Amino acid sequence: MNCSQLLKEAESRFDTGGLSTPGLDAQVLLAYCIGRDRQSLYAHPEKELSYAEVTLFRSMVARRIKGEPVAYITGGKEFWSLTFEVTPDVLIPRPDTEILVEEVLKLFGRDDEVRMLEIGTGSGAISVALASELEQVSITATDCSPEALAVAARNALNNNVGERISFLCGDLFEPAEGTYDIIVSNPPYISEGEFNLLAPEVREYEPRRALVAGPDGTEFHRRLVRGARPFLIDGGWLAVELGEGQRDALEKILQESGYCDIVFHRDYAGIERVVLAKMRR
Ligand code: SAM
Ligand code: GLN
Repeated sequence: MNCSQLLKEAESRFDTGGLSTPGLDAQVLLAYCIGRDRQSLYAHPEKELSYAEVTLFRSMVARRIKGEPVAYITGGKEFWSLTFEVTPDVLIPRPDTEILVEEVLKLFGRDDEVRMLEIGTGSGAISVALASELEQVSITATDCSPEALAVAARNALNNNVGERISFLCGDLFEPAEGTYDIIVSNPPYISEGEFNLLAPEVREYEPRRALVAGPDGTEFHRRLVRGARPFLIDGGWLAVELGEGQRDALEKILQESGYCDIVFHRDYAGIERVVLAKMRR
């Protein structure tokens, strides 16, 4: 069978299975099976696949139809135009999180010596992206999951920023030491009730502890905002991702904890997704 036939076969199975991006999913999986990029599928639609490649592709298609995310099937995901390894121990990095990276980069010059702390690094997406842009940054990236940290450390090494990030395991600020110019985090922010309403491909495959934050989804934010204070320099920044509808709650938490210059930034869907706030002593 050739590329074009296999793509059609998979796309139609995905379509019948109710997947939202059947064409894209088929292309990503097929490109992975033949070790090429997606464009080459169109450059050489008549390319014949070996029996082993067809078998591999069909087994991946079957996994996808059961709901497994494409990134866990291929073991990789692009974020900030960098390639990240992902395993079921880490949340698959989301495009929305690039807004957090973008806003943090507006605060610093490429050569600034920035001391940064990331809480809940998961795949390492945020820290690795920031370290790829800030040449003199020194990042401490933490997570409570040792399995996630192993993935994050490999991602730092594979993207040539291993020297600028140290990975430490522990609950929130437990592994932190000294003070930082900025603390960044994409914390869990889904409420326990919302968790049951998430798409099965998120709920059944991604790590629950990367997503759920108490009965109203802001439990983690509360601990983060308060806990960050002693670890920030005077005038240091806190930059945090948030969920839809959490803006007012978060503004209140930040004000009550004495932060100023609180600014929210929207994602591409118009949802307030990231907040930056300055700490004043
Ligand atoms: N930073 C990654 C990203 O943006 O794709 C992952 C973010 S994920 C939403 C949240 C991460 O926080 C997960 O990796 C999870 O293991 C970690 N986490 C959950 N509870 C934690 C805790 N109490 N202390 C430290 N990390 C925690
Ligand atoms: N954006 C993720 C989702 O909608 C949630 C990530 C988080 O809790 N930080 O599945």
